Amino acid sequence: MVKQTIQIFARVKPPVRKHQQGIYSIDEDEKLIPSLEIILPRDLADGFVNNKRESYKFKFQRIFDQDAKQETIFENIAKPVAGSVLEGYNGTIFAYGQTGSGKTFTITGGAERYSDRGIIPRTLSYIFEQLQKDSSKMYTTHISYLEIYNECGYDLLDPRHEASSLEDLPKVTILEDPDQNIHLKNLTLHQATTEEEALNLLFLGDTNRMIAETPMNQASTRSHCIFTIHLSSKEPGSATVRHAKLHLVDLAGSERVAKTGVGGHLLTEAKYINLSLHYLEQVIIALSEKHRSHIPYRNSMMTSVLRDSLGGNCMTTMIATLSLEKRNLDESISTCRFAQRVALIKNEAVLNEEIDPRLMIKRLQKEIQELKDELAMVTAEQRTEALTEAELLQLEKLITSFLEDQDPESRLEVGADMRKVHHCFHHLKKLLNDKKIFGNNTVSNTVSSESKDQDCQEPLKEEEYRKLRDILKQRDNEINILVNMLKKEKKKAQEALHLAGMDRREFRHSQSPPFPPGNPEEGQRMRLSSAPSQAQDFSILGNRSSLLHKKTGMREEMSLGRQEAFEIFKRDHADSVTIDDNKQILKQRFSEAKALGESINEARSKIGHLKEEITQRHIQQVALGISENMAVPLMPDQQEEKLRSQLEEEKRRYKTMFTRLKALKVEIEHLQLLMDKAKVKLQKEFEVWWAEEATNLQVKSPAVNSLDHTKPFLQTSDSQHEQSQLFSNKSSGGWEVQGQGTGRFDVCDVNARKILPSPCPSPHSQKQSSTSTPLEDSIPKRPMSSIPLTGDSQTDSDILAFIKARQSILQKQYLQLLCSLSPKSAVSFAQPSTNRKGLSDVLVTR
Ligand code: ADP
Ligand code: MG
Repeated sequence: MVKQTIQIFARVKPPVRKHQQGIYSIDEDEKLIPSLEIILPRDLADGFVNNKRESYKFKFQRIFDQDAKQETIFENIAKPVAGSVLEGYNGTIFAYGQTGSGKTFTITGGAERYSDRGIIPRTLSYIFEQLQKDSSKMYTTHISYLEIYNECGYDLLDPRHEASSLEDLPKVTILEDPDQNIHLKNLTLHQATTEEEALNLLFLGDTNRMIAETPMNQASTRSHCIFTIHLSSKEPGSATVRHAKLHLVDLAGSERVAKTGVGGHLLTEAKYINLSLHYLEQVIIALSEKHRSHIPYRNSMMTSVLRDSLGGNCMTTMIATLSLEKRNLDESISTCRFAQRVALIKNEAVLNEEIDPRLMIKRLQKEIQELKDELAMVTAEQRTEALTEAELLQLEKLITSFLEDQDPESRLEVGADMRKVHHCFHHLKKLLNDKKIFGNNTVSNTVSSESKDQDCQEPLKEEEYRKLRDILKQRDNEINILVNMLKKEKKKAQEALHLAGMDRREFRHSQSPPFPPGNPEEGQRMRLSSAPSQAQDFSILGNRSSLLHKKTGMREEMSLGRQEAFEIFKRDHADSVTIDDNKQILKQRFSEAKALGESINEARSKIGHLKEEITQRHIQQVALGISENMAVPLMPDQQEEKLRSQLEEEKRRYKTMFTRLKALKVEIEHLQLLMDKAKVKLQKEFEVWWAEEATNLQVKSPAVNSLDHTKPFLQTSDSQHEQSQLFSNKSSGGWEVQGQGTGRFDVCDVNARKILPSPCPSPHSQKQSSTSTPLEDSIPKRPMSSIPLTGDSQTDSDILAFIKARQSILQKQYLQLLCSLSPKSAVSFAQPSTNRKGLSDVLVTR
C-alpha cells in the first residue's frame, strides 16, 4: 500500500499580451519547497473591504512558469503517475483552473503543433513503449472517454454519436455494487492494441465533443472530460490479474458567475457556474477536515466517478492552471486556494489484484488430476469418473441383501470409495420413494391426473390459437402501413431526384469537387502506402482515421451551391492558415518518411550483402584449408574484420533510421488527426453560419414563396443597392440561369470566378456590354422571381441562404476590390455610369 497526499502542481500560462511586471513571483523556501506569490497591484488591493492584503503566497510541489514546455510537464507530472499505473496502481491527473487558463492545452494539447501535444498523447506513447519493452507480463489496454455535462454522463466514444444528437444517446449512469464499487453503465470500453489505435480514440472523442457543442451548450467550458486508460496485466501461468486505471481529467472552467470588480469586492465568493465543481469542492473540504465520517461523494456524478481518486485507492495529481493576468487575479487566487485544500487529502493506493476465475478453474483441474494420480498410487487401482455397470449391479445386490437381512447388526460394506457410498444412498432413496408411491396406490391417481391435464390443455390451445390469429392480423396491418409509407417515400425520392437534377444543371459550370482527386494530402497517403517494405506499415495511415473521416464526409451531402459557399468560407477562415501550414509540414514529413524508407531498404540490402560476403569468405577459407591441408585460422583476417565493422556500422545506421521512421510515423499520425479535427471544426462553424443566414433570411422575408421574390435580396441603403445590383442582379445572370446557359460563368480570373459569377461577358454578351450601357440599364428585365424555389421549406431556405451568403461575400469582395484599386478607378467603378466592360477589364488585369 502506498500512502500519499494528492500532489499539487501549478502551471502559469503565457500571457496573451505582455504581463504587467510584478504581478507574481516564484521563490523557494529553505527546504526548497517552491511557492508562488501573487502580488495584487495597488489599485486592486485597495478594493478589498474585509481582506486588505496585498500579496498571497501558495506552496506547490513544483511550479511551472510560462516557458515550461509540454515535454517538461509530461516528464515531471505525468510520467511518474503512468509509471505507477504500469505497476498496477490507479492514477488520476486532473487540471483545474478558469476557462482559458490552459487545462485542455495541458491535458490534451494544442490543436496546431505536434510539439504541443499534451499529457494524454504523451502518456499513451509512453505506456505503449513500456508495454512493448516488458515481455515478462501480458498486458491489455482499454480506453474509455466520458463527458459529464449538466450532471449527465455521455460516452464520447459511442459509435452512435454520428447519427444521433447528444440528447438521444443513452446516458451513462452510475451503478454501485454491494461492495460500494462504482460501475458505469453505457460507457463503452474500447480495446487499443497500439498507440495509434488509442490516439484515434482520443481524437474521435474530441471530435464528437466538438460536434455536439452548440452555442447554447458551451460544453467545452462547462463539461468535465475523463479520458481513462484501463490497463490489465498478468504474468504467464499466473491466475492473478492486476487492473489499474489512469484517469486524465479536463475539468470544467472554475470561474464563478459574479465578477463584480467594480468598486471593490474583487474576491466576492459567488456561486460556481458549475454545480459539480461546487460538489467537488465540498468533497475536498470534507476530506481535508479531520474526523469527518461522511464524505458527500454521491451528490454529483463527477465526484462519484472520481471517488477513488479523491481520498481513496489512487495516486492523484492536480495541476492548477493559472492565467496570471491582472483581470484574472481573483480566479487565480481561488484556484490556488483550492489547490492548498486538495494538498491535504491523503490517498491510499493498493495494488488491484484479482484472481481470474478461468485461470483458477484450470489450476484446480490440474490439482484434482494430481490428487487422483496420488490416490491411484496409494490404492493401487485406477478410478474412473463413474462406477461401471458391473460395479453398480454388485452394489445393488449388496443393498438388497442388506435390506433383507433381519440381523440388526448387519452392515453394508462398500469400502473407502465415496462414489459407492453416494450411490448406496441414492439407491436407498429411490427404493423408499417407490415404496411410498406404490403403497398409496398412487398409480391410478397419476393416470387420472394426466388425463385431466390433457383435458385442460384443449381450451388452452384454443386460446393460444386465437391469440396467434390476432397477432397475425396485426402484423398484416403493419405490413400494409409500411408498404404505403414506402410507396410515398419512393415518390418523394423520385421528386427530389428530379429537383436535384435541375439543381445540378444550374451549377454545373461553377463547381469543382470539394476534395478534388488531386488533393495533395490524399495523394501523399496513397503514395506512402506503396512505399518500400520498411515503410509498409504506414499504409494503415490510409484508413487510419476513417472514424474521423466519416465525419468530414458530411460535406459530400452538401448541395453544390452550399459547397461553393463552403469553399469561400473555408478560404477566408482563420484556421485555414493553420491547416495549410500543417499540410506543408505533413508534406515534408511524408517525403522525409519516404526517403527514410528508401534508405532503410538500402541499408537492409547492404547488410544482406555484407553478411553474404562474410559467409562466402568463410566457405572459401574452409575450402582452402581442406585443399591445402591447412588449419582454418581461428581469428578473422583483416579483410573480414573490415567487413564486420562495415556490417556493424550499417546495422547501427539501420537502427537509427528505423527509430526515426517510427517517430515520424507517430508525428504524421498526430498531424493528420489534428488536421481532420480542424476540418470538422471548420465545417461545423460553416453549418452554424449557414443556418444563421437561413434563419435571418426567413425572418426578413416570411413569404418567400410569394410573388415578390426580389424582396429579400434588395438592400436598403443606396450604396448597398448599387452593390447588390452590380453583383447579384446584373452579374447574375447567375440567378436567372435557366435561360442563359454556359456563357455566364466564363470568368477570366480564377479567384474572381468564384466571387463574381459573370462580370466578364461572354462573346455573345460582349456586344451588348461594349455599348457602354449604364449599370441600371443592364438590370435584367426578368425579375428575381424566376429563382426556382422548390416549395419544400427546408430546401428553399437553403437556396435563399445560399443566395444571401453569396451576396454578402460578393459585397465583401467588391469592397476589397474597391479598396485595392486606384482611387480613380474605384470612384468610377462605384459610379452608375461604369460599364460592364470596365469591370471585366479591371478583373482581367488583376
Ligand atoms: P482551458 O481548457 O483552460 O479553457 P485552453 O487549454 O483551451 O484553456 O487554453 C486557452 C488558449 O491558451 C488556447 O488557445 C491554448 O492553446 C492557449 N494556451 C494555454 N496554455 C498554454 C501554454 N502553456 N502555452 C501556450 N499556449 C497555451
Ligand atoms: Mg478546455
